[in-house]
Amino acid sequence: MNKLSVIVPCFNEEDSINLFYDTIEKVFVSIQKEWEFVPEYWFIDDGSSDKTLDQLRKLKKLDPEHVHYVSFSRNFGKEAALYAGLQYSTGDLVTVMDVDLQDPPELLPEMIKGIKNEGYDIVGCRREDRKGEPVIRSFFSNLFYKLINAISHTQFISGVRDYRLMTRQVVNAILSVTENNRFSKGIFSWVGFKTKYLTYKNRDRARGKTSWSFWQLFNYSIEGIINFSEVPLSVATFIGILSCIIAVLGLCFIVVRTLIHGNPVAGWPSLVCIMLLIGGVQLFCLGIVGKYVGKIYLESKNRPIYIIKEQK
Ligand code: UDP
Ligand code: MG
Repeated sequence: MNKLSVIVPCFNEEDSINLFYDTIEKVFVSIQKEWEFVPEYWFIDDGSSDKTLDQLRKLKKLDPEHVHYVSFSRNFGKEAALYAGLQYSTGDLVTVMDVDLQDPPELLPEMIKGIKNEGYDIVGCRREDRKGEPVIRSFFSNLFYKLINAISHTQFISGVRDYRLMTRQVVNAILSVTENNRFSKGIFSWVGFKTKYLTYKNRDRARGKTSWSFWQLFNYSIEGIINFSEVPLSVATFIGILSCIIAVLGLCFIVVRTLIHGNPVAGWPSLVCIMLLIGGVQLFCLGIVGKYVGKIYLESKNRPIYIIKEQK
């Protein structure tokens, strides 16, 4: 019998867990008609403050053979939950899936086919639209993908979810990336391997509500850029060279003008503006460097990615 590990991060999802379990169990019934796969569920309770953990304990009692859970001591974020799940999983194939059913479990049979019959190492999923999402959020999302693809060697495809099925080899590759600041979208793409994407129509959450605010998403995208590109660090050099060139041209202009028209005292407002501008640019560049230094600082502390309170 082959094992298929299903990793499910849960943060305040008391309403979704049972519905998720029932839905995916049905999918496994249809999978087992064609393939010999038994499920191994790893629910990761990411420090929920509601009854998520109680629900998981109940589910464990109901299906002790297949259901497992890990509960964190506090909220460490979805990235940490995914990492923990990948570490605990023992399946030959491994999938990561949201508990809110936004990642359609019924795509699993087709994903298995992609790996088993077509020879792919990863079968991922991609939303073909962003229906139901605020317009401004879609706009910034698209902007983010344009920007990061322009300045990073790692490829990022718009609409690709974390939802994917991977071989054990891919999971081991992902686990070998041990950095603390984990930007999964990037790490999944960075490890490479032969990947196929299935597309599906965006769907709303089954229960509960999203835990991402606009600013969290904004910070998340900055995180991605800092983690997967060094280009922002060159911004300072670029602006520095540019302002040097402008300064030399300006100098020539002033010398020539003074020779022709004499030297009337004027222009201090423009001087103040230029000083402010240069000051601003310097602080901006310092901020970028600071971001990277901060990352190095956090990374060098080498703290554990998550802390477990309970595991069964
Ligand atoms: N999640 C988590 N930790 C967090 C935030 C979210 O484990 O700090 C889980 C959440 O329970 C869900 C998945 O990650 O299963 C995706 O979260 P959400 O639906 O809020 O994000 P969205 O689908 O809106 O991107
Ligand atoms: Mg969701």
